[in-house]
Amino acid sequence: DAKLEGPHTIRFFNPSMQENVSRRLHLESAMRNALENNHFHFFVQPQVDSQHHVTGVELLMRWSDAELGYVPPSEFIPVAEATGLIVPMGEWLLSEAARLMQRWQEDPLLRDLTVAVNISAKQFRHAGFVDMIKRLIQQPNVNASLLELEITESMLIEDVQNTVRRISKLNEWGVRFSLDDFGTGYASLSYLKQLPIYQLKIDQSFIRDILTDTNDEIIVSTILGLGRSMGLEVIAEGVETAQQARRLNEMGCAKYQGFHFGRPASPVEWEARLRESRLTIYAGGS
Ligand code: C2E
Ligand code: MG
Ligand code: MG
Ligand code: MG
Repeated sequence: DAKLEGPHTIRFFNPSMQENVSRRLHLESAMRNALENNHFHFFVQPQVDSQHHVTGVELLMRWSDAELGYVPPSEFIPVAEATGLIVPMGEWLLSEAARLMQRWQEDPLLRDLTVAVNISAKQFRHAGFVDMIKRLIQQPNVNASLLELEITESMLIEDVQNTVRRISKLNEWGVRFSLDDFGTGYASLSYLKQLPIYQLKIDQSFIRDILTDTNDEIIVSTILGLGRSMGLEVIAEGVETAQQARRLNEMGCAKYQGFHFGRPASPVEWEARLRESRLTIYAGGS
Protein backbone atom coordinates (compact mmCIF):
# COMPACT_ATOMS: atom_id res chain seq x y z
CA ASP A 1 0.00 0.00 0.00
CA ALA A 2 1.65 3.23 -1.21
CA LYS A 3 0.25 5.26 1.70
CA LEU A 4 2.23 3.26 4.23
CA GLU A 5 5.47 3.68 2.32
CA GLY A 6 5.52 7.46 2.68
CA PRO A 7 5.27 10.27 0.11
CA HIS A 8 8.63 9.60 -1.56
CA THR A 9 7.87 6.04 -2.48
CA ILE A 10 4.46 6.42 -4.10
CA ARG A 11 4.59 4.46 -7.37
CA PHE A 12 1.83 4.54 -9.88
CA PHE A 13 3.54 2.66 -12.64
CA ASN A 14 6.18 -0.02 -12.75
CA PRO A 15 7.93 -2.00 -15.48
CA SER A 16 5.95 -5.15 -14.82
CA MET A 17 2.72 -3.24 -15.43
CA GLN A 18 4.11 -2.07 -18.75
CA GLU A 19 5.08 -5.62 -19.59
CA ASN A 20 1.55 -6.76 -18.81
CA VAL A 21 0.06 -4.08 -21.01
CA SER A 22 2.26 -4.87 -23.99
CA ARG A 23 1.77 -8.62 -23.59
CA ARG A 24 -1.95 -8.03 -23.58
CA LEU A 25 -1.78 -5.92 -26.73
CA HIS A 26 0.37 -8.56 -28.34
CA LEU A 27 -2.05 -11.29 -27.27
CA GLU A 28 -4.96 -9.36 -28.67
CA SER A 29 -3.48 -8.89 -32.14
CA ALA A 30 -2.16 -12.46 -32.20
CA MET A 31 -5.65 -13.69 -31.31
CA ARG A 32 -7.30 -11.71 -34.09
CA ASN A 33 -4.77 -13.17 -36.43
CA ALA A 34 -5.31 -16.71 -35.15
CA LEU A 35 -9.05 -16.33 -35.55
CA GLU A 36 -8.73 -15.15 -39.15
CA ASN A 37 -6.30 -17.91 -40.04
CA ASN A 38 -8.12 -20.67 -38.22
CA HIS A 39 -5.27 -21.32 -35.79
CA PHE A 40 -7.40 -22.07 -32.76
CA HIS A 41 -8.20 -25.66 -32.05
CA PHE A 42 -9.82 -27.59 -29.26
CA PHE A 43 -9.33 -30.61 -27.06
CA VAL A 44 -12.01 -32.84 -25.63
CA GLN A 45 -12.10 -34.34 -22.15
CA PRO A 46 -14.41 -37.24 -21.25
CA GLN A 47 -17.11 -37.21 -18.58
CA VAL A 48 -17.96 -40.58 -17.04
CA ASP A 49 -20.78 -42.16 -15.04
CA SER A 50 -20.56 -44.22 -11.84
CA GLN A 51 -19.58 -47.29 -13.89
CA HIS A 52 -16.82 -45.18 -15.37
CA HIS A 53 -18.38 -45.34 -18.82
CA VAL A 54 -17.95 -42.22 -20.91
CA THR A 55 -21.23 -40.33 -21.37
CA GLY A 56 -19.88 -37.29 -23.14
CA VAL A 57 -17.07 -34.80 -23.54
CA GLU A 58 -16.28 -31.19 -22.72
CA LEU A 59 -14.67 -29.07 -25.43
CA LEU A 60 -11.70 -26.98 -24.26
CA MET A 61 -10.19 -24.32 -26.46
CA ARG A 62 -6.46 -24.53 -27.22
CA TRP A 63 -4.06 -22.11 -28.83
CA SER A 64 -0.37 -22.19 -29.71
CA ASP A 65 1.05 -19.05 -31.26
CA ALA A 66 4.26 -19.12 -33.34
CA GLU A 67 5.86 -16.39 -31.20
CA LEU A 68 4.05 -16.63 -27.88
CA GLY A 69 4.09 -20.42 -27.74
CA TYR A 70 1.33 -22.27 -25.92
CA VAL A 71 -1.05 -19.81 -24.31
CA PRO A 72 -3.39 -21.36 -21.71
CA PRO A 73 -7.10 -20.52 -21.80
CA SER A 74 -6.75 -18.96 -18.35
CA GLU A 75 -4.68 -16.29 -20.11
CA PHE A 76 -6.40 -15.83 -23.48
CA ILE A 77 -10.05 -16.25 -22.47
CA PRO A 78 -10.06 -13.16 -20.18
CA VAL A 79 -8.45 -11.10 -22.97
CA ALA A 80 -11.00 -12.45 -25.44
CA GLU A 81 -13.78 -11.46 -23.05
CA ALA A 82 -12.38 -7.97 -22.46
CA THR A 83 -11.95 -7.28 -26.19
CA GLY A 84 -15.18 -8.89 -27.39
CA LEU A 85 -13.21 -11.44 -29.43
CA ILE A 86 -14.91 -14.11 -27.35
CA VAL A 87 -18.02 -13.68 -29.53
CA PRO A 88 -16.47 -14.78 -32.86
CA MET A 89 -14.17 -17.27 -31.06
CA GLY A 90 -17.10 -18.82 -29.25
CA GLU A 91 -19.09 -18.97 -32.46
CA TRP A 92 -16.21 -20.75 -34.15
CA LEU A 93 -16.04 -23.33 -31.35
CA LEU A 94 -19.80 -23.89 -31.39
CA SER A 95 -19.72 -24.52 -35.12
CA GLU A 96 -16.91 -27.02 -34.51
CA ALA A 97 -19.06 -28.63 -31.82
CA ALA A 98 -21.88 -29.00 -34.33
CA ARG A 99 -19.51 -30.59 -36.85
CA LEU A 100 -18.26 -32.99 -34.21
CA MET A 101 -21.85 -33.94 -33.32
CA GLN A 102 -22.67 -34.50 -36.98
CA ARG A 103 -19.66 -36.77 -37.40
CA TRP A 104 -20.47 -38.72 -34.25
CA GLN A 105 -24.11 -39.02 -35.25
CA GLU A 106 -23.00 -41.25 -38.11
CA ASP A 107 -21.12 -43.58 -35.78
CA PRO A 108 -23.23 -46.04 -33.74
CA LEU A 109 -20.50 -46.18 -31.08
CA LEU A 110 -20.35 -42.42 -30.59
CA ARG A 111 -23.80 -41.11 -31.47
CA ASP A 112 -25.13 -40.84 -27.90
CA LEU A 113 -22.22 -38.82 -26.50
CA THR A 114 -23.04 -35.41 -25.07
CA VAL A 115 -20.95 -32.41 -26.13
CA ALA A 116 -20.39 -29.63 -23.58
CA VAL A 117 -19.19 -26.16 -24.56
CA ASN A 118 -18.13 -23.34 -22.22
CA ILE A 119 -20.01 -20.11 -22.77
CA SER A 120 -18.70 -16.85 -21.34
CA ALA A 121 -21.01 -14.15 -19.97
CA LYS A 122 -20.34 -11.73 -22.78
CA GLN A 123 -21.06 -14.38 -25.38
CA PHE A 124 -24.29 -15.45 -23.67
CA ARG A 125 -25.54 -11.85 -23.47
CA HIS A 126 -24.63 -11.03 -27.06
CA ALA A 127 -27.76 -10.14 -29.03
CA GLY A 128 -27.31 -12.86 -31.64
CA PHE A 129 -26.55 -15.73 -29.26
CA VAL A 130 -29.89 -17.53 -29.11
CA ASP A 131 -30.41 -17.34 -32.88
CA MET A 132 -26.86 -18.52 -33.52
CA ILE A 133 -27.47 -21.64 -31.39
CA LYS A 134 -30.80 -22.17 -33.11
CA ARG A 135 -29.11 -22.12 -36.53
CA LEU A 136 -26.54 -24.64 -35.31
CA ILE A 137 -29.03 -27.13 -33.96
CA GLN A 138 -31.25 -26.85 -37.01
CA GLN A 139 -28.51 -28.32 -39.16
CA PRO A 140 -29.04 -31.91 -40.24
CA ASN A 141 -27.69 -34.58 -37.89
CA VAL A 142 -27.27 -32.24 -34.94
CA ASN A 143 -29.15 -33.63 -31.96
CA ALA A 144 -29.82 -30.57 -29.79
CA SER A 145 -30.47 -32.68 -26.71
CA LEU A 146 -26.83 -33.80 -26.76
CA LEU A 147 -25.59 -30.20 -26.58
CA GLU A 148 -24.75 -28.85 -23.15
CA LEU A 149 -23.81 -25.25 -22.54
CA GLU A 150 -21.67 -24.53 -19.48
CA ILE A 151 -22.25 -21.17 -17.88
CA THR A 152 -20.93 -19.79 -14.60
CA GLU A 153 -22.58 -18.27 -11.57
CA SER A 154 -21.04 -14.89 -12.34
CA MET A 155 -23.45 -14.36 -15.21
CA LEU A 156 -26.46 -14.84 -12.98
CA ILE A 157 -25.80 -11.79 -10.89
CA GLU A 158 -26.99 -9.31 -13.47
CA ASP A 159 -30.23 -9.57 -15.28
CA VAL A 160 -31.53 -12.87 -13.93
CA GLN A 161 -34.82 -12.57 -15.78
CA ASN A 162 -33.18 -12.19 -19.14
CA THR A 163 -30.83 -15.09 -18.38
CA VAL A 164 -33.77 -17.30 -17.43
CA ARG A 165 -35.62 -16.30 -20.60
CA ARG A 166 -32.70 -17.22 -22.84
CA ILE A 167 -32.03 -20.50 -21.11
CA SER A 168 -35.72 -21.42 -21.28
CA LYS A 169 -35.86 -20.65 -24.98
CA LEU A 170 -32.89 -22.92 -25.64
CA ASN A 171 -34.36 -25.58 -23.32
CA GLU A 172 -37.46 -25.66 -25.51
CA TRP A 173 -35.28 -26.75 -28.39
CA GLY A 174 -33.63 -29.43 -26.28
CA VAL A 175 -30.36 -27.68 -25.36
CA ARG A 176 -29.32 -28.21 -21.73
CA PHE A 177 -27.39 -25.95 -19.36
CA SER A 178 -24.82 -26.76 -16.75
CA LEU A 179 -23.49 -24.47 -14.01
CA ASP A 180 -19.68 -24.65 -14.15
CA ASP A 181 -17.24 -24.03 -11.26
CA PHE A 182 -20.18 -24.29 -8.90
CA GLY A 183 -19.46 -23.08 -5.40
CA THR A 184 -16.90 -20.45 -6.36
CA GLY A 185 -19.25 -17.69 -7.49
CA TYR A 186 -21.87 -15.56 -5.89
CA ALA A 187 -25.11 -17.09 -7.05
CA SER A 188 -27.67 -17.10 -4.30
CA LEU A 189 -29.85 -20.12 -3.84
CA SER A 190 -32.90 -18.10 -4.83
CA TYR A 191 -31.32 -17.49 -8.26
CA LEU A 192 -30.49 -21.14 -8.55
CA LYS A 193 -34.09 -22.07 -7.90
CA GLN A 194 -35.27 -19.91 -10.81
CA LEU A 195 -32.71 -21.24 -13.21
CA PRO A 196 -33.77 -23.91 -15.72
CA ILE A 197 -30.49 -25.80 -15.65
CA TYR A 198 -30.03 -29.56 -15.38
CA GLN A 199 -26.54 -29.94 -13.93
CA LEU A 200 -24.16 -28.51 -11.31
CA LYS A 201 -20.43 -28.94 -11.87
CA ILE A 202 -18.61 -28.99 -8.55
CA ASP A 203 -15.51 -26.84 -8.90
CA GLN A 204 -12.23 -28.71 -8.86
CA SER A 205 -10.94 -26.65 -5.93
CA PHE A 206 -13.34 -28.60 -3.66
CA ILE A 207 -12.28 -31.97 -5.07
CA ARG A 208 -8.52 -31.52 -4.80
CA ASP A 209 -8.31 -32.13 -1.03
CA ILE A 210 -11.59 -33.92 -0.53
CA LEU A 211 -9.90 -36.87 1.19
CA THR A 212 -8.12 -34.75 3.79
CA ASP A 213 -10.01 -31.48 4.19
CA THR A 214 -13.24 -31.81 6.16
CA ASN A 215 -14.48 -28.42 4.94
CA ASP A 216 -14.20 -29.52 1.33
CA GLU A 217 -15.98 -32.75 2.13
CA ILE A 218 -18.82 -30.83 3.77
CA ILE A 219 -19.11 -28.44 0.83
CA VAL A 220 -19.20 -31.30 -1.68
CA SER A 221 -21.82 -33.23 0.26
CA THR A 222 -23.88 -30.03 0.59
CA ILE A 223 -23.77 -29.50 -3.19
CA LEU A 224 -24.74 -33.15 -3.74
CA GLY A 225 -27.68 -32.73 -1.35
CA LEU A 226 -28.70 -29.52 -3.10
CA GLY A 227 -28.61 -31.32 -6.43
CA ARG A 228 -30.73 -34.17 -5.12
CA SER A 229 -33.35 -31.92 -3.59
CA MET A 230 -33.53 -29.68 -6.64
CA GLY A 231 -33.53 -32.55 -9.11
CA LEU A 232 -30.25 -31.53 -10.69
CA GLU A 233 -27.52 -33.82 -11.90
CA VAL A 234 -24.16 -33.19 -10.21
CA ILE A 235 -20.76 -33.80 -11.79
CA ALA A 236 -17.41 -33.47 -9.98
CA GLU A 237 -14.57 -31.93 -11.96
CA GLY A 238 -10.85 -32.26 -11.33
CA VAL A 239 -11.01 -35.90 -10.21
CA GLU A 240 -7.37 -36.94 -10.31
CA THR A 241 -7.20 -40.20 -8.33
CA ALA A 242 -9.10 -43.45 -7.89
CA GLN A 243 -9.46 -42.67 -4.16
CA GLN A 244 -11.18 -39.37 -4.90
CA ALA A 245 -13.53 -41.11 -7.34
CA ARG A 246 -14.35 -43.80 -4.76
CA ARG A 247 -15.01 -41.26 -2.03
CA LEU A 248 -17.24 -39.22 -4.34
CA ASN A 249 -19.12 -42.36 -5.28
CA GLU A 250 -19.71 -43.20 -1.61
CA MET A 251 -21.01 -39.66 -1.13
CA GLY A 252 -23.56 -40.20 -3.89
CA CYS A 253 -21.84 -38.42 -6.77
CA ALA A 254 -22.45 -40.37 -9.96
CA LYS A 255 -20.61 -38.34 -12.60
CA TYR A 256 -16.99 -37.37 -12.87
CA GLN A 257 -14.50 -35.55 -15.03
CA GLY A 258 -10.78 -35.31 -14.44
CA PHE A 259 -7.32 -36.54 -15.24
CA HIS A 260 -8.03 -39.88 -13.55
CA PHE A 261 -10.57 -40.68 -16.26
CA GLY A 262 -8.83 -38.92 -19.10
CA ARG A 263 -6.86 -35.85 -19.92
CA PRO A 264 -7.98 -33.36 -22.52
CA ALA A 265 -6.70 -34.48 -25.94
CA SER A 266 -7.54 -33.97 -29.59
CA PRO A 267 -10.99 -35.16 -30.69
CA VAL A 268 -9.41 -37.63 -33.14
CA GLU A 269 -7.38 -39.21 -30.34
CA TRP A 270 -10.41 -39.54 -28.05
CA GLU A 271 -12.63 -40.81 -30.83
CA ALA A 272 -10.27 -43.74 -31.37
CA ARG A 273 -10.08 -44.54 -27.65
CA LEU A 274 -13.83 -44.23 -27.18
CA ARG A 275 -14.63 -46.50 -30.10
CA GLU A 276 -12.28 -49.09 -28.69
CA SER A 277 -13.62 -48.93 -25.12
CA ARG A 278 -17.21 -48.92 -26.30
CA LEU A 279 -16.64 -51.93 -28.51
CA THR A 280 -15.43 -53.71 -25.37
CA ILE A 281 -18.50 -52.60 -23.41
CA TYR A 282 -20.88 -53.78 -26.12
CA ALA A 283 -19.03 -57.08 -26.35
CA GLY A 284 -19.92 -57.66 -22.70
CA GLY A 285 -16.72 -56.54 -21.01
CA SER A 286 -16.46 -53.39 -18.91
P1 C2E B 1 -13.45 -25.28 -16.97
O1 C2E B 1 -14.54 -25.08 -17.95
O2 C2E B 1 -13.81 -25.42 -15.55
O3 C2E B 1 -12.62 -26.51 -17.53
C1 C2E B 1 -11.98 -27.45 -16.70
C2 C2E B 1 -10.50 -27.15 -16.64
O4 C2E B 1 -9.92 -28.06 -15.71
C3 C2E B 1 -9.77 -27.38 -17.95
O5 C2E B 1 -8.67 -26.47 -17.96
C4 C2E B 1 -9.24 -28.80 -17.79
O6 C2E B 1 -8.12 -29.08 -18.59
C5 C2E B 1 -8.90 -28.80 -16.33
N1 C2E B 1 -8.92 -30.14 -15.74
C6 C2E B 1 -9.68 -31.19 -16.10
N2 C2E B 1 -9.47 -32.25 -15.30
C7 C2E B 1 -8.55 -31.85 -14.39
C8 C2E B 1 -7.91 -32.52 -13.28
O7 C2E B 1 -8.15 -33.68 -12.98
N3 C2E B 1 -7.03 -31.77 -12.56
C9 C2E B 1 -6.73 -30.48 -12.87
N4 C2E B 1 -5.84 -29.83 -12.12
N5 C2E B 1 -7.31 -29.82 -13.91
C10 C2E B 1 -8.21 -30.51 -14.66
P2 C2E B 1 -8.35 -25.58 -19.24
O8 C2E B 1 -8.56 -26.37 -20.49
O9 C2E B 1 -7.01 -24.97 -19.00
O10 C2E B 1 -9.45 -24.48 -19.19
C11 C2E B 1 -9.50 -23.57 -18.14
C12 C2E B 1 -10.75 -22.74 -18.20
O11 C2E B 1 -10.74 -21.90 -19.36
C13 C2E B 1 -12.02 -23.57 -18.32
O12 C2E B 1 -12.39 -24.05 -17.06
C14 C2E B 1 -12.97 -22.53 -18.88
O13 C2E B 1 -13.44 -21.70 -17.84
C15 C2E B 1 -12.06 -21.73 -19.78
N6 C2E B 1 -12.25 -22.21 -21.16
C16 C2E B 1 -11.63 -23.21 -21.83
N7 C2E B 1 -12.11 -23.31 -23.08
C17 C2E B 1 -13.08 -22.36 -23.20
C18 C2E B 1 -13.96 -21.94 -24.25
O14 C2E B 1 -14.00 -22.50 -25.34
N8 C2E B 1 -14.80 -20.89 -23.98
C19 C2E B 1 -14.80 -20.27 -22.76
N9 C2E B 1 -15.65 -19.25 -22.58
N10 C2E B 1 -14.00 -20.63 -21.75
C20 C2E B 1 -13.14 -21.66 -21.98
MG1 MG C 1 -16.30 -26.03 -18.21
MG1 MG D 1 -15.04 -25.83 -14.18
MG1 MG E 1 -12.98 -22.83 -14.71
